[in-house]
Amino acid sequence: MATKKRKVDSECRAFNDEWTWKYFFTAVKDKPVCLICNEAVAVFKEYNISRHFTSKHKNSNYEAMSEYERKQNVESLCKKLSGPQNFFKKGNTIQEAATHASYIVAYKIAENNKALSDGEFVKQCMLQVCYVLCPDKKNNFQTVSLSRKTMTSRIEAIDKKLTSQLESKIGQFKFCSIAMDESTDINDTVQLVLFIRGVDENFEITEELACMRSLKGTTKGCDIFREFQEGLLTLKVPIKNICNITTDGAPNMTGKKSGFLRLFNQNYPGNNVVFLHRVIKMLCVNLH
Ligand SMILES: [Zn+2]
Repeated sequence: MATKKRKVDSECRAFNDEWTWKYFFTAVKDKPVCLICNEAVAVFKEYNISRHFTSKHKNSNYEAMSEYERKQNVESLCKKLSGPQNFFKKGNTIQEAATHASYIVAYKIAENNKALSDGEFVKQCMLQVCYVLCPDKKNNFQTVSLSRKTMTSRIEAIDKKLTSQLESKIGQFKFCSIAMDESTDINDTVQLVLFIRGVDENFEITEELACMRSLKGTTKGCDIFREFQEGLLTLKVPIKNICNITTDGAPNMTGKKSGFLRLFNQNYPGNNVVFLHRVIKMLCVNLH
């Protein structure tokens, strides 16, 4: 009588925590599920569960494990199994891919001088193509944010990244030269464009558009000198590393009284900068 009662108790259709490490089972909703092969067993019965383990995972690494090892393995197996976590992980990956895709489009828009609002048009096209080619992937495509606002922030982030990359390269420069040119944009604002070309200790040469600064108001030598200084300061270009400055040779650059050249020499006496003028157009053509 007593034996029978104990037997009923141990099989009372509830999950016994010991089964987790003894047979690598866990309870998912109202089914015991094997942690090794994710197969479910019909009932919460020790006999059924142990039979699954001894028959399906016979001679496996799991069977040979000590109690301590089993308990350790159960933990990581449980993590792998947990459904919502897997789902969340998948969701995250799609979200990450969508963000990446949105960056790619933003980069293309900036690279090709397209309007920021073109992202929305690109998305419309993408969705239409998706409906034709892979309608089941519709949700993934919809996740990609290409709104004007997103494009703006993505391009700003890309700009920040490129600037910091350039800054770190500039930090490695042993010597560098600057080419300067002024040109007027479509809004009739004069833009001072600075190109930098430098060499590091491994003789690796970097040539890049360093910055573009708007000259609002006058474009006298002092205005150019101010923007030049601020531009280089932002990029942390050490003045002592500059060995050449090339300009377009306009009077505001070369003027003896108040041109850029004079102001530069006044502010940085004893510098070793070689000035070149009037070859800038050729240089700029090459740089573009
Ligand atoms: Zn199994």
